[in-house]
Amino acid sequence: MSKVSIGLRGWRFDEEAVFTDEGEFRPLEEMPLDAKKRLVRLQDIVDAPCDACWLEHGESSPEEYNPSEVVYGEPLSEVLLCGDHENDLVYWFHEAGGSQYAETDEFDDAFHEWFLDGGRAPEGYDGVEHVATEPDELPDPPAVEDDQRKDEWDVTEKTDLRDLNQEYPGANE
Ligand SMILES: [Zn+2]
Repeated sequence: MSKVSIGLRGWRFDEEAVFTDEGEFRPLEEMPLDAKKRLVRLQDIVDAPCDACWLEHGESSPEEYNPSEVVYGEPLSEVLLCGDHENDLVYWFHEAGGSQYAETDEFDDAFHEWFLDGGRAPEGYDGVEHVATEPDELPDPPAVEDDQRKDEWDVTEKTDLRDLNQEYPGANE
């Protein structure tokens, strides 16, 4: 079974579990729970900025945020990263104790704490697995109706770049 990414690099889906033979998304009810949760979450986070950019620049400088390209961790405790910051997460995970938070709710908080404490991949560290796929080439996550997710999934608290654009319509440019 081949694996695909949807929306962002990082999370991988069994192609046959999420797509029909015609290449359409299967109805959510037909998908395995894990795939379903990730897809629903992806819809919320696909346009959110990189967590590390957000931590670095603070809420007052949203124009400095890079869009996220890759997602690590589990839905709702995931970390989103741009290409520049992915290396920091990979370093944290493999070399700075991050792996103990794998598949836990503390994954995002633990990374944020380390990053805010000045944690960075050292110069020359290159832990990122280079993949040919550009984020732009990935299929978009399916649109999910609010009543389909009801109590089962929380709504995102992530900042959305689309909302930011509405709040700051290029005022100073
Ligand atoms: Zn970033």
